[in-house]
Amino acid sequence: MPELRRGPTNDRWVIVAPERAKRPSDFAKRGSELDEQQPEGCPFCAGNEEMTPAETFRVANGKEWYVRVVPNKFAALQDYDDLGREAIEGFYDRMNGVGAHEVVVETPEHFCEIPDLPAEQIKRIIDAYIARLRELMTNPWFRYVILFRNHGKEAGASLLHPHSQIIATPVVPQEVRNSLNIARAYYESKERCLFCDVMLAEIRGGHRVVEENDGYVAWAPYASRFPFEFVIYPKAHSHDFTTLDDDQRLDLAWILKRSLQRLTLLLGDIPYNFVLKTTPNPVPRPGKPGYWKTLPYDYHWRIAVLPRLTRVAGFEWGTGFYINPMPPEDAARHLREVDLADA
Ligand SMILES: [Zn+2]
Ligand SMILES: [Zn+2]
Repeated sequence: MPELRRGPTNDRWVIVAPERAKRPSDFAKRGSELDEQQPEGCPFCAGNEEMTPAETFRVANGKEWYVRVVPNKFAALQDYDDLGREAIEGFYDRMNGVGAHEVVVETPEHFCEIPDLPAEQIKRIIDAYIARLRELMTNPWFRYVILFRNHGKEAGASLLHPHSQIIATPVVPQEVRNSLNIARAYYESKERCLFCDVMLAEIRGGHRVVEENDGYVAWAPYASRFPFEFVIYPKAHSHDFTTLDDDQRLDLAWILKRSLQRLTLLLGDIPYNFVLKTTPNPVPRPGKPGYWKTLPYDYHWRIAVLPRLTRVAGFEWGTGFYINPMPPEDAARHLREVDLADA
């Protein structure tokens, strides 16, 4: 049975899920033959639908599906009747591994990554993301819904077939809470959104901008942790990703496609993670009403794309500092200079 444990010195929750790997060799083998995975026997390919648990959502035209969402067979978190929050051994916080873990199968095709998909198909993926996030946020126990994509073995993927994942957690993760607190403090003193201010500075400066359209701008952050890291911000202030209309979804599809095309044309098929950062569940939790009151004003949803070209080692784990050998200004210039006519 999975459970959540909090480290007393860093305030960080860890999911302990022993079911996910039973022997040390299960860890070692994970994803090692990723690149050789073929459509035959792939649980995400069209025709193999019975290999996955029952769908929670699909984008389809009649019998033909475009995007499927299914529960993860090896869920890190699962549904419980209650949180079971308590102190154990007289001191340590624990609670049940309450949550949800789903997989978004992004296309029926085995070998078709986001840069190669038509923008209309990427928009369908975004439609599926939003539908599932909205649904999961109706559960007041789910305090945060994380959406992420692991591409490549080094980025943590265990299946080659294009997919992303959604995990709902019963606590707002420390990483998110940290940025919420910083955003709130900034808003309290300036009465402006910190993220809007950063974005305006980046658009004005321009030298770290990678890609831009009517609705969005992508740039390499000033303090990038990883080489060729970039973020995608909506130009219109909004704390909530799930409020996007059709035009905004299509603009997002285009900037995702074009910026990932730049990355792929420049560096090849490199491993990367992308992570959506959006509002915690706005539905108040019983016992803790109205905790993030100024959220609609002070928070701004965004996507971070984190290429995994450098190793996270002792220094990073020990300090939380990262060493990045590629200045983001240079990374942005290289990415901007890619000729998308070659795509
Ligand atoms: Zn497949
Ligand atoms: Zn903003």
